[in-house]
Order: sequence, then C-alpha cells, then structure tokens
Amino acid sequence: MGFDKTALVTGGAGFIGSNLCRRLVGEGKRVVCLDNMISGREENIADLVAYPNFSFLKADVADASAFNSIEKVGHIYNLACPASPPFYQADPIATMKTSVFGAINVLELARRTNARVLLTSTSEIYGDPLEHPQRENYRGNVNPIGVRACYDEGKRAAETLFFDYHRMYGVEIRVVRVFNTYGPGMRVDDGRVMTNFISQALAGENVTIYGDGTQTRSFCFVEDMLDALVSMMECEGFTGPVNLGNPEELTMLELAEKVIALTGSSSKVVFCDLPSDDPARRKPDISLAKEMLGWQPHVSVDEGIMKTAEFLRR
Ligand code: UDP
Repeated sequence: MGFDKTALVTGGAGFIGSNLCRRLVGEGKRVVCLDNMISGREENIADLVAYPNFSFLKADVADASAFNSIEKVGHIYNLACPASPPFYQADPIATMKTSVFGAINVLELARRTNARVLLTSTSEIYGDPLEHPQRENYRGNVNPIGVRACYDEGKRAAETLFFDYHRMYGVEIRVVRVFNTYGPGMRVDDGRVMTNFISQALAGENVTIYGDGTQTRSFCFVEDMLDALVSMMECEGFTGPVNLGNPEELTMLELAEKVIALTGSSSKVVFCDLPSDDPARRKPDISLAKEMLGWQPHVSVDEGIMKTAEFLRR
C-alpha cells in the first residue's frame, strides 16, 4: 500500500475508532489516529502505538489547525464525536461544534489532498421515528430544541455539508448511518444501555431500565460494523447514505433479561425515569447495504453480549 493510502481516523481512540485503527493497522495500512480524548481513552490504543504504521495525533477535529501537518492521506474516516447520550449532552455546544466544524475540517482536508472521506452519521438523524423499520429515504422526526438535538442535528448538518462538498467540489464522500453498536473497547462508564446492563449484571447490581422497558433498539456487534465501514470506504461509485446496523430488534426489558441470563447473574431489574426525547423504536432496514455492499451482520446478540461481558469483566 502506497503512502497516499494513509488512513486518517478521527475519534480513533474511541470505541469504534480504536477497533477500526486496529483492523487497518493489521491490514498493513498506515494509520493516523486523531483524538482529543474527551471520550476516547489511552488504553484503547495502548497496543497500537508500538506499530511503525500507527501514529497518534492528540487534537480536536473541530480545530482547523489540527490538520495543517497532514499532507497526504487517502482515506479519512470521520468518527470523532461523543456518541453516548450522557457524554454528548454533557457539553451540547461542544458536541454540535464537533459535528459541524469537524465535518468542514475533514472535508477541506479531503479537498486539499484528494482523499475519500467517510462520515459516520447515526440512526439518531431519524429522531423518534414514525416509520418502522427505518429506510434511508425516511427524513426523520427530530426535536430540534430537545436535549438530543446537539447530536441529532449536528449529524444532520454534517450530512448536509458532506453532500454540499460533493456537489460543489466533487469531494468523494461516503455517508453511513450507524445504528446502536457495542462490543469490546466501550467505556464501562459510557452510560449506554449495553455497558450499563452488562456491568450491572456482572456486579450483581440492579439492572436499570429507563421507562417501562418497551422501547426497542437493534444492536450490532463492533466487528460486523468494521466490515461495513471498510466495505463502504472501498466501494466505488456509491456515496450513501446507507444504514448500518443489526436489524434484530429487542425491547430493553428483553435485553435486560437476556443479559441477566447470559451472565448467570442474580441481578433484578428496576425501573427508572425515561430520559426526554428517548426514541420509542429503532430498527434499521439494511436492504441497501446488502445490495450495494453485500454486507449483513453475522454476530448474534447472544454471542456479542458474551464477548462484551468477557471484555468488561477484565
Ligand atoms: N437505557 C436503559 N437503561 C440504561 C441505559 C439506557 O433502559 O441504563 C435505555 C435508554 O433509555 C434507551 C435505550 O436503553 O431507550 C438505549 O439507550 P442508549 O443510551 O444505549 O442509546 P440510544 O439508542 O438511546 O442513543
């Protein structure tokens, strides 16, 4: 692989980012990992820094000057943004800046270096969806002034910027909408449902269901997600947007019971307040990903939970 195929991974010390860096480094690619460590962690990339084809740049994707030192890059994976509700809501203005300024900065870099650039957008752009399952042509039901808007609207604006740079300057873009993803590399204190439930079950603590537990999500194991991200980056002539996720839908009550059973835990479920604007249902229609990328997830939720529990136990 030539120098011009260097991959830049923004958010490369985060959960999906660090797993992606590991995959790309293993394939012999040169990888530059950029992260400001707001939600990324040094432990996630500790094993990677020893590789000569890996380098780490501590910088903020929203800061244009962070990219001045980058002269050549082939692929830009733009993952940088806190993605767990408690994390992205902690400083909502920073979250919006990360999505919007971050998008502009990676798009300008792509324009300058002729790189291909992939945006990890999100199922959150569908808001609390009125169509089920969600297909890419559904335009969503987002509350623009709610507590989730900093993330949802930030990612929607990022998608807009990607398509405008594509139309105005011919930048080669790839836009994917990532649905709930989990696996090794998540923070124990991440606050999302998978890490909460598994760590509570392992500790024998109460498993905290928000609301009545009838809301649904569909969970994709991280290794499946990496296959999709790499396929999307490498495919020709397809910008997306494309949904990436596992269509197996579960209520949070079903998930809690599954996690308790699989970990052999004695934990009980408790019901807590439902956060505002919490989407009632979410499940991707992945027909487009199947057709265009030949991709579909292979890891079952049971297997993924066991692997994640093994990681969190450590
Ligand atoms: N949730 C829950 N208990 C928890 C954490 C989350 O019941 O300890 C619920 C949350 O209200 C939501 C779903 O699980 O309905 C998924 O939440 P998460 O924060 O993982 O991601 P989201 O899909 O909402 O962005």
